[in-house]
Amino acid sequence: EKNDKDVKEEMHKKEDCKPAVFIPVDRLPEIQEARLRLPILAEEQVIMEAVREKECVVLSGETGSGKTTQVPQFLYEAGYASSGGIIGVTEPRRVAAISMSHRVATEMNLPSGVVSYQIRYEGNVTENTKIKFMTDGVLLKEIQKDFLLQKYSVVIIDEAHERSVYTDILIGLLSRIVPLRNKKGLPMKLIIMSATLRVEDFTENKRLFRTPPPVIKVEARQFAVTVHFNKRTPVDNYTGEAFRKICKIHRMLPPGGILVFLTGQAEVHSVCRRLRKAFPYRPHREHKDSMETEEDLKKSKRAKKKKNMSLPRINLDSYSALPVDEGDEDRQAGIDDNDNEGSDLELGDHPDSDHEEKADPSIPLYVLPLYSLLAPEQQAKVFRPPPAGARLCVVATNVAETSLTIPGIKYVVDCGRVKKRFYDRVTGVSSFKVTWISQASANQRAGRAGRTEPGHCYRLYSSAVFGDFSLFSEAEITRRPVDDLVLQMKDLNIEKVVNFPFPTPPSSEVLISAEQLLISLGALEEPPRRGRLAEMERARLSCPITPLGRAMAAFPVAPRYAKMLALGRQQGCMPYIITIVAAMTVREIFEDYDRPAGSEEESTKMAGKKARCVQMRRLWAGHGQSVQLGDLMVLLGAVGACEFAGCTHQFCEENGLRYKAMLEIRRLRGQLTNAVNAVCSDAGVYVDNKMAPPTASQVLCLRQIVLAGLGDHIARRVQAEELLDPKWRNGYKTPLLDDPVFIHPSSALHKMLPEFVVYQEIMETTKMYMRGVCAVQAEWIPKLLPQYCHFSAPEESPAPWFCPLTGRVKCHQQSTFYRVSWKLPAIEM
Ligand code: ADP
Ligand code: MG
Repeated sequence: EKNDKDVKEEMHKKEDCKPAVFIPVDRLPEIQEARLRLPILAEEQVIMEAVREKECVVLSGETGSGKTTQVPQFLYEAGYASSGGIIGVTEPRRVAAISMSHRVATEMNLPSGVVSYQIRYEGNVTENTKIKFMTDGVLLKEIQKDFLLQKYSVVIIDEAHERSVYTDILIGLLSRIVPLRNKKGLPMKLIIMSATLRVEDFTENKRLFRTPPPVIKVEARQFAVTVHFNKRTPVDNYTGEAFRKICKIHRMLPPGGILVFLTGQAEVHSVCRRLRKAFPYRPHREHKDSMETEEDLKKSKRAKKKKNMSLPRINLDSYSALPVDEGDEDRQAGIDDNDNEGSDLELGDHPDSDHEEKADPSIPLYVLPLYSLLAPEQQAKVFRPPPAGARLCVVATNVAETSLTIPGIKYVVDCGRVKKRFYDRVTGVSSFKVTWISQASANQRAGRAGRTEPGHCYRLYSSAVFGDFSLFSEAEITRRPVDDLVLQMKDLNIEKVVNFPFPTPPSSEVLISAEQLLISLGALEEPPRRGRLAEMERARLSCPITPLGRAMAAFPVAPRYAKMLALGRQQGCMPYIITIVAAMTVREIFEDYDRPAGSEEESTKMAGKKARCVQMRRLWAGHGQSVQLGDLMVLLGAVGACEFAGCTHQFCEENGLRYKAMLEIRRLRGQLTNAVNAVCSDAGVYVDNKMAPPTASQVLCLRQIVLAGLGDHIARRVQAEELLDPKWRNGYKTPLLDDPVFIHPSSALHKMLPEFVVYQEIMETTKMYMRGVCAVQAEWIPKLLPQYCHFSAPEESPAPWFCPLTGRVKCHQQSTFYRVSWKLPAIEM
């Protein structure tokens, strides 16, 4: 160990290197020993030479080779943090940022004030911080404050292969920042680290780097992994299949840890629960998380036993404001920090029979969950050795695929699926869907079994299915709308987003429609309407951001919702707008009883529940004025009633609400409140979990705010005299679609059929249905959305209506002052 230091010191003296320092690190002997076994240690000299000579270096290496934990230490020892600069490391996931900072602090024997982490709203960074782990979103925000990132001497972009949008944008930005810094005599280095192959998107991209950066490959010791495919065609019930496979491995195969890949938090918990039941392991009873789950289970069973099917008496006017509560206890789970695991609302237990797997309960199985939102102290457990004699079984989402390396894994069970965010170009809506993984991911998962000795990977799908997998996962940026990204980039004063060096550029059509939406929301300045066509086109793609746009960029939600938040301060509407936005962001708040039920008894029970659910929606739709707020009033009413009842599992169960959705909404409300208060320092908005129902004038105001945010999602009912085709009966016309859209029977406005509505999204089932519908008044449209209107001569057309040719709302020229006053945010910057 001493030798190692001496050699290094000599090396640093001999070569005329900059920085010409060697900062010793006092590691514990056992740590030093473990480090020396990591493949990356052999490459230290090569890596550090490349870093010294080049502005940017790409480092690719097998997961577990030591990139994340060791490279920051190499840089620290070489003095990159000794003259005031910080070594910054970005991670696409919060789990990795936290656990890696802890690990590196431990390895270096330094306090957390020196090796720190920062994720949104939480961190332990101090004046003395030398190495800082953070999520990529955090660094992007810092670039907004200081484009040159002068605090940092080195930035490491870790897990670049994941191709998260923030990572992609950071690489694009840093490809410009680093040369700029070096030109200004403020040297800076960029290191891009990636697990799998295909670094060509970064190195061969001439727009990114004129001279391709050097690529250093770290070879890892990897033992053979035998891959076993399922013979059967893949089943939908892969959690059940995974459970059976784990039981089999545990009962029949020699010692060695098991790592299971599932897609989301709900599945992880469901499998953990079943495993703990099948192989009871005493110490688990002490774990708080399992206690809670069991408690929850008991509660829900109790609730199920209650045969009382009568409607609870909720009087909307009676849920009044009660003592204040921060409502913000889960704020580390930042919604804008990437959580690639989705919202977990759609997947629950699959109630199938697994009676044949009555395992021998005497064999101890030490079951641990692992997913992004798990509390850090729970996550840390997977790194510790399991209790003597017990077998470790980690049930994980794909966070265990590359970010974290769990020691002692010999068996991998791979469901072959991943939960991903998708974007539907027709409806413009993103959602989380479970899909097949890529071959690269599957091989990466299998590789987790061969870290310490030869291992086995059990794939819960056939080799034919594997053959159909795509080779690599595609970059996230090609699968989602980019209006939020474009807004963030404009906030960085990048006006020509089309020219931005994206590692994988989104199509210009997608960029143009994003820019168009932002212009109509008032987030970007309108381009001039005069001049030659080509000039106008160019101007249209380089509109600068407005003050409203800056305010919107500060909210961690999509621009349409951000617009609503920016307008929410009027008439005390903010708490309601925050709640509505939070509830719209969560996919579905109602329990879905449409699933095909097994037995007849089961299906009558379901039918009863469904009927009650419909009644509940109706009840929550409100009365009088508030009915016009439509489905958004239903959301508001449901959250209001649930919070009034203390947001308990039992209340949700009895009233057809998803408990998890309600908890999520509560968390989001806390976060959005923080964001709103940060943007308008004098806002002083305080979201009480419990809130009084909105007054009639507030409801009016809320509808206008919603219209201002969802202006491009407007629809007008086709009037009887315009009916040309019976298919348009009760149909609505939208600007972009040729076919009619309808108000869904479950909507609060289904019977009312208001003339003008705005909607949250369109879902196509048997027909095209609007979801999240809210009624708006015709006379508001020219006032709030002049940009979507055609103003006709006064005598021509007295009432606003849709021009089918342009898809615009045609209306009477009321007066021009509306144009001046529509950008009405009462926001001080
Ligand atoms: P890479 O970034 O190349 O995937 P890492 O630097 O994350 O590799 O991990 C290197 C090694 O350090 C791994 O073998 C892993 O087992 C070990 N390691 C990482 N984090 C911890 C931890 N918290 N506790 C114990 N060992 C860890
Ligand atoms: Mg790593």
